[in-house]
Amino acid sequence: MAEDFYDLLGVERNASADDIKKAYRKRARELHPDANPDDPAAEAEFKQVAEAYEVLSDADKRSHYDRFGSAGGPGMGGAGDPFGGGAGLGDLFDAFFNMGGQGGGGGRGPTNQGVDLEVVAELDLEDTVAGVARDVSVRTAVSCEPCDATGASAGSKSSGCEHCSGSGQVRQVRQSILGQMVTTSVCPVCAGEGRIVTDPCTECNGEGRKVEDRTYTVDIPPGVAHGTTLRLTGRGAVGPRGGQAGDLYVEVRIRKHPVFVRDGEHLLAELHVAATQAALGAEVSFEAIDGAIDVDIPPGSQTGKVFKVRDRGIPQLRGRGRGQLVLTLIVDTPAELDEEQAELLRQLAELRGESVKEPGEAGLFKKIRSAFS
Ligand SMILES: [Zn+2]
Ligand SMILES: [Zn+2]
Repeated sequence: MAEDFYDLLGVERNASADDIKKAYRKRARELHPDANPDDPAAEAEFKQVAEAYEVLSDADKRSHYDRFGSAGGPGMGGAGDPFGGGAGLGDLFDAFFNMGGQGGGGGRGPTNQGVDLEVVAELDLEDTVAGVARDVSVRTAVSCEPCDATGASAGSKSSGCEHCSGSGQVRQVRQSILGQMVTTSVCPVCAGEGRIVTDPCTECNGEGRKVEDRTYTVDIPPGVAHGTTLRLTGRGAVGPRGGQAGDLYVEVRIRKHPVFVRDGEHLLAELHVAATQAALGAEVSFEAIDGAIDVDIPPGSQTGKVFKVRDRGIPQLRGRGRGQLVLTLIVDTPAELDEEQAELLRQLAELRGESVKEPGEAGLFKKIRSAFS
């Protein structure tokens, strides 16, 4: 079901709006129910292609799709061009914020919604156990204080747009073969705002906002997974001249841990014990992600034996309880023996009938080399 919209239209991800339109028309002709009577597969694909085109033909929805792999929920898309035809600061905002607010939103009335922003928060695995408050910094657009976000210089006021009588929309009536058609579109003079700044604020060039770095604190809940995106409503860039702020999306990335590997809500790790402990049994201490635990090693335990410890994994994101800590036993061979230890092991080998090297006995290759010298 989750077919890639670009694949559906048969275009590259960087295809221009024009290419997308052409590709859609071609695909739609091929798949149109009139051309494929009683072909449910073609009909289904026709609908998918139409859906893909609806998203990719809208700059706002397309940008959201590119970033998040979906067309976005209510509130996304459909906003009028918040920068109008003006140059200057608008271009700067374009560069920073990728013009998320662009697109034809006929009939919605004046709108100057700010764009959504995205930032990454890197966490350690430990942070996902108790949850954590993390500061994230983002370059954003904030209200201009000297003009109180109006964009108008002190003492002056913005005046109503005459072109649209302050409504932000223009209506056009056309005669067509189907009768009279009325279309509503965003007023090109005031860009849908319904008013025009005649004497712009010098601080913000009439934008009513400026670019600034801001730091926000994000409460990251316990159990959050790598790749999760959290939304901070209203923490995105503010729109021009008092426009509502967009949202801030925080993508969570979890750093690799030197000891633990996360498997959903479970944590996996190796538990190293000495050969004597594995052979005779022991109670050993293991440093779990949130404090030490005791593990009972039964006598005769082999490498690969698995110990599952309940409630010492990762908390469930929504709900109670935690996953398991899954420990895989690794038996460490004793190395760097002193003479006494080696002698004891040799005695043990003899008792068990296991053949071992004599002390100082040369390996096979050394023997061959000394035979030739
Ligand atoms: Zn200002
Ligand atoms: Zn207007």
